[in-house]
Formats: sequence, C-alpha cells, structure tokens
Amino acid sequence: PHPQIGALLAAIDGVPVTTEPSTVRKRSRDFFWYSPILDAQLRGKSADILVSPRDEGEVVRVAAACARLGVPITPRGAATGNYGQAVPLHGGVLLDMAGLKDIAWVRDGSVRCGPGLVMSELDAALAPHGLEQRMHPSTKRRATVGGFVAGGSGGIGSITYGGLREPGNILAARVITVEPEPRAIELRGDAAQKVNRAYGTTGIITALEFPLAPAWPWVDLIVAFDSFAEAMAFGHRAALADGITKKLLSPIAWPLPSHFAEVRPHCPEGKAVLIATVAKHSVDSFLALLGDAGAVTLERPLTDAPGQTPLYEYTWNHTTLQMLKADRGVTYLQCLFPHDAVLEKVAEMCALFPDELLGHCEFIRFGGRITASALPVIRYTTPERLSTIMAAHEAAGVMIADPHVYTLEDGSRHKRAEADQLGFKREVDPRGLLNPGKMRSYVPAAAAT
Ligand code: FAD
Repeated sequence: PHPQIGALLAAIDGVPVTTEPSTVRKRSRDFFWYSPILDAQLRGKSADILVSPRDEGEVVRVAAACARLGVPITPRGAATGNYGQAVPLHGGVLLDMAGLKDIAWVRDGSVRCGPGLVMSELDAALAPHGLEQRMHPSTKRRATVGGFVAGGSGGIGSITYGGLREPGNILAARVITVEPEPRAIELRGDAAQKVNRAYGTTGIITALEFPLAPAWPWVDLIVAFDSFAEAMAFGHRAALADGITKKLLSPIAWPLPSHFAEVRPHCPEGKAVLIATVAKHSVDSFLALLGDAGAVTLERPLTDAPGQTPLYEYTWNHTTLQMLKADRGVTYLQCLFPHDAVLEKVAEMCALFPDELLGHCEFIRFGGRITASALPVIRYTTPERLSTIMAAHEAAGVMIADPHVYTLEDGSRHKRAEADQLGFKREVDPRGLLNPGKMRSYVPAAAAT
C-alpha cells in the first residue's frame, strides 16, 4: 500500500471507507477484459482503499488530504468502462462517486444533478416532467451520469443529437481540484468539454447540467433482413428520414443475433437484424418506409424497468457482451465511417475480413452529418493481427478509436482538440494525482524540471 494511507485515513476520519482488500480489488476493475490486450496489462491493478463520500464537502476533504499526502485518487462511477478508465494504475484512493446523486433542479428543459446518479434513475425522475436524457450508453441501467461524461462518448439518442462531444450536449460541469486547499470550478458551456472523456484526470466532477429531450412513448422493434447489407441500407434510409422520431438504429450481422438470449426467438436463423427504437407516433411512418424490404419480428414498448430487457441492451457494446458470454475468443473494434461512403465502406471492411469480422453498426450524427459508428466483433488471434485489421480500416478512410489502450491520447482520437484538457489538468491537479498514468502527455511538474 501507499506509505501515506494510514495518515490519509486519519485525515478523512468520518468519511465512509472500505479497506477490506478483496472488496477494494473487485471495485477496482471495470470491463477492460473485453480486450485481451488490456486484460493482460490491467489484471491485478487495485486501489489501496475505497472512499465513498456522501456530499461535495466530503469530496473536498478527501481531495485536500490526497493533495497534502501525495496519494493518487481515481474517481469511480459504476465501473462499466471498457478501457480500464476507472482502474487505478498506482494504488491510492478509489473514490466512489455513487453517493452524490441529488437532482438540484429541472427547469427550462434542462437538469442539474450529482455525478453518481444512475442514468435510468435520472430518466425515471424526469418522466413526470415529460422529459428524458438526450442520449445514454447501452449500460444506462447501471452507469452513472458522471462516468458517462468522463468516460463515455454517446449512445442511444446519438442518431438525433450526436455524441457528448457536440457543442450544447453538456451545459455545465462543476469540478473539485486536487490541491491542499481544493477549489470548486464551474465550467459552463463548451468549457465543460475539459472533463468530457478525460477519464477523471481533470478534476472530480460534483455536478453536471444537461439539456433534455421529450420523453415520447418509445417502441422497440426487431426487423429481419436477408443480408447485413440490406439491414445497413434500410437503417441508413431510416436514419436520413428526419421526420421519423427515433433514438436507435442498429444493424447487426448473423450470427451475432444467435446470442441474443431473451429475444433469440425473434431473430430468424441466418438473417441479419436491425434493432430500432422509434417514437410510437412514428411507427407507422417507419413501417411504410420499410415496405417489404424486411420483416418485423418483434414490436413492443420500450421500458428500462426490471423484468424485460430493453432492446438497447443488444446494441452498442452490449452486442459484444452477448457474444462474449458464449465465446471468450472474440473482441471488438471502435470505428467511425466516412459519412459520404458509409454503406460502401462497411461492405468493404466486411469483405476484407470475412472470417474474422462480424458486422455491427449504429447510425449516429457526427458533426451534424448522418453516418455510422461500428463496434464490429473480431475473432481474436494475436495483437499483431488486431493491429493489421485496424490499420486496414484506417487505410480505407475509416476512423479507429483504439479500444485496446488505456491512455486518453491513444484511445480517443475523435475528441475535439480545442478543449485543452492537458492545460486544464495542470491547473486543477498540479501534483498529477488524479487517475495517474491515463493522460500520457501529462508530465508532473517535479518530473519535468
Ligand atoms: P466509470 O466506468 O465508473 O468511470 C468512467 C470514467 O469516468 C473513469 O475514468 C472514472 O475515473 C471517471 N469518473 C467517474 N465519475 C467521475 C466523477 N464524478 N468525476 C470525474 N471522473 C469521474 N459507452 C458509451 O459511451 N456508449 C455506449 O453505448 C456504451 N455501451 C457499453 C456497453 C457495455 C456492455 C459496456 C461494458 C460498456 C459500454 N460503454 C458505453 C462504456 C460505459 O458503460 C459508459 O461510458 C458509462 O457511461 C460509464 O459510466 P460509469 O458510471 O460506469 O463510469
């Protein structure tokens, strides 16, 4: 353990702490094991203690003590990230943010809330206002809003609103600095991008503000197609149909649907499927657009409530999870296709790796244009082969965000550069104690001189 843990425990007396090593070890893991490369690098990494503040005042006490004693501090939401974002590389404190989950207000179509709020709980609280979050990851029923902002990118809803990176999707973030006298900084407007997908290296988020969307009654549909190309083609047409209110369009190639447990009976043998979530008022328009291009095999109301799996839990990175449950020999990629050649490039990549790549896309808006991101499932052999497959995508003009690395710079190449996360880190974390090792370009002041 870190030599100052004893002193730290004394300094934060009264704040809930877990020191039991097996619990701390378990909580120090996320879903990095999706990647055989990260699994080898991160397995066994653990914090020394888990600290669970109940309010911002306790966060400030922990930050102050860590800054004075030089103890690393890694924030944790629900630890559903895929790249070890919430895995402490250098021990110290794992800061469980789940206790900060108050909703301060809902007004003018926006909300201010604590970072530890689980996303499905936030939507449940917004429902009486007729509102919901603009977007959420497929882990909505577990993930926290703070973890989404600090570790995620987009998801269900991004077909209409783009990702978290688009200006306007995060209205404000309040962060606590890691200094002997911590400061609270309110980042308003585009300045909030300084914490977006920064893996908690640029301040501890204690409040967030988001703009909201109308909470329509939504309908989940599965549509079967003879081929993945046909599922892609119709998905693209539906994505371009601006009058159809939707939040999910996900074409998925066979045999991936053969692993879709509860809805397997609605996924015909050998067929590709499109999973779609469409507002009830748009279902007829959606079906008219479909015509006889594909066959609807399931249509039911969407609910996040326990008892029924929402179809979004078969999309985004849940598609990979469903397959991993049956076959640990697979992994995945993260791709962004060029908007002006989406269908051609998806087909080209499937054709290039017919035995290794199982097609799976989500239509999204990116920079205002309709395109597809993809999390294709890959039959894994070696790190070198994985690199070859990613390089072939990049050579064909398909952007890759490498999900097999744990540093910010190597993973998220889609991020907007102007946010200057490195400059902000120097301001808020002068000793480099926040999630150390994740921001590769950061060199602590002492080491730089
Ligand atoms: P955590 O994993 O706990 O944390 C994520 C990062 O945020 C960490 O670096 C942590 O240090 C930091 N952090 C957490 N709280 C704070 C805070 N208060 N202040 C500062 N930093 C903080 N992601 C998507 O974007 N879209 C998807 O559709 C999607 N699908 C997924 C499907 C599966 C099956 C899995 C396993 C993952 C998926 N993810 C997806 C990744 C992940 O689930 C989401 O990004 C999720 O929102 C992370 O939230 P979390 O609460 O689990 O965060």
